[in-house]
Amino acid sequence: MKYAIPAWDLTSIPVASSDEVFPVRRVYCVGRNYAAHAREMGHDPDREPPFFFMKPADAIVPNGSTIPYPVATSDLHHEIEMVVALKSGGSDIAIENANECIFGYGVGLDLTRRDLQGEAKKLGRPWDMGKGFDRSAPCSPLHPVSETGIIDAADIWLKVNGETRQTSNLNALIWSVPETISYLSGLVELAAGDLIYSGTPAGVAAIERGDVLEGHVDGLTDLKITIA
Ligand code: MN
Repeated sequence: MKYAIPAWDLTSIPVASSDEVFPVRRVYCVGRNYAAHAREMGHDPDREPPFFFMKPADAIVPNGSTIPYPVATSDLHHEIEMVVALKSGGSDIAIENANECIFGYGVGLDLTRRDLQGEAKKLGRPWDMGKGFDRSAPCSPLHPVSETGIIDAADIWLKVNGETRQTSNLNALIWSVPETISYLSGLVELAAGDLIYSGTPAGVAAIERGDVLEGHVDGLTDLKITIA
């Protein structure tokens, strides 16, 4: 087969302590998955069904990058999240089988053009341009679950210029990782290479040019991103 135009490389993420990389297929994100964040966004954190949006795979940014302040926004927000990478998938995955799909975990940022997202919410329009823009998904190297074990309780935090902005624990997720995988697999068929950004705790706020963001989940490599 011959491509009509030159084909591009698959997006990939380094695997920690390895010379291998993880190929990225799709990037799913969970909305409002910590009660305190749901409240700060003006929503009742009752256990409504989870909802999802996506970012393009090539929105992934490697650890240590300096990224330009995005175009078309004056309200860029940070959302620190644990990223779950899948080594297998399927449809209608049972909660008790969901952890078997996990390849590993990373520390991610769901960068958000909050002004565009807010406008989209108000007008009942899609979130894509608020969420799925270029370089909107920084992610640390992935740590295989064989090394970390299942992560269901770990501190997660984000510092901006050394000052803590977001802090919580994975045990505060409204929808746990296996519940999220199970629910999402009832909406789409999941597959190896898929990433799930598992939601952000409270404390989201604007970032500015020159800010240095450091994200952490216990047991994983810290994520460091600079906004140019
Ligand atoms: Mn998010």
